Amino acid sequence: MLDIDGAHGEGGGQLVRTAVALAAVTGTAVRVHDIRARRRRPGLAAQHVAAVRAVAALCDARCDGVHPGSSVLAFRPGALHGGSFVVDVGTAGSVALVLQAMLPAALASGEAVEVVLRGGTDVPMAPPVDYLHHVLLPLLARMGVHAELQVERRGYVPRGGGEVRLSLPATGLLAPFVVDERGPVTAIDARAHVSRLPLDIARRMAAAARSAVGRTWPFDAHVEAGDPLLALGPGGAIVLSAAAGPTVLGAAQVAQRGVPAEQLGRQAALSLRRDLEAGATLDVHAADQMLVFLALAGAPSVFRASVLSEHARTAMWLIETLTTARFAITPQGESVRVDVQPHVRR
Ligand code: ATP
Repeated sequence: MLDIDGAHGEGGGQLVRTAVALAAVTGTAVRVHDIRARRRRPGLAAQHVAAVRAVAALCDARCDGVHPGSSVLAFRPGALHGGSFVVDVGTAGSVALVLQAMLPAALASGEAVEVVLRGGTDVPMAPPVDYLHHVLLPLLARMGVHAELQVERRGYVPRGGGEVRLSLPATGLLAPFVVDERGPVTAIDARAHVSRLPLDIARRMAAAARSAVGRTWPFDAHVEAGDPLLALGPGGAIVLSAAAGPTVLGAAQVAQRGVPAEQLGRQAALSLRRDLEAGATLDVHAADQMLVFLALAGAPSVFRASVLSEHARTAMWLIETLTTARFAITPQGESVRVDVQPHVRR
């Protein structure tokens, strides 16, 4: 059984999710210890438990220590398979992060997967569901993944209760992502929404994003009020996506009590601008979320990022621990270039 230090590097939930995903894909039994050891509430939270169980369901894994608060877990994967699954986080824990764990395993099963996920759709410190829809899934589509995502209901902190459905057809070996230069930015779309809050908040987020993006690029705002009968509580988010030739970059902020709408819109816009001006071909968050897929592609990949986050560096360490994939990082002007040699299946 491969022993993994859950406190390594960024030492958060992403390490746990990626560890079990790659355990399932490579058929390696793993033990993860010191899970989220430096977090305010160490050990597994509900979202991590849901993610590990969801990956276990995709490969009939035998697990120990998968419960809230647990700081050590063991995961012994069986054979991967597709099917229909229902995952209920039970809290406002992010459904996007549960999907982050499920997707690599679901793709590697080579079979169709349908999943209904319940929990938070737009929660802080996680990709809002519109980011999945308009950034991550379009990037995966370029690698031959044709997933369909439907948002049935939004869910926010603290009550959760959101629901999304993902359909994934049987997918073969992933195509590489080879984009060391972005194309011209042909459109920036801002999607700002609120539920059970004044629509003006979404308008102000979008207007602040527009002025912080500047006049260099075309900008379109889509402002939307969620159906108040559907969401259990108030919430909102702004998600920007920039179409740039062969790639798409994004940035997002989730509405939080006490944080002005203008600040959220501006922060999202400045993050996107920094990535675009640096010549990045993946935004700072996609640059950690895409690594596992690039590691499992059928040929070498290349991308550029404005910076490599601690999340990205930790994911690289973990992927190199669990697979034969290798990353080479080269500073290039205002950005870093990352070359990925994919995992070789035995
Ligand atoms: P922990 O509570 O231990 O930090 P976690 O499970 O909540 O764990 P992380 O391990 O921090 O989460 O992983 C968060 C993931 O969400 C990362 O992949 C990160 O790129 C992504 N993410 C965070 N904020 C955003 C954002 N604004 N837009 C897109 N992706 C985001």
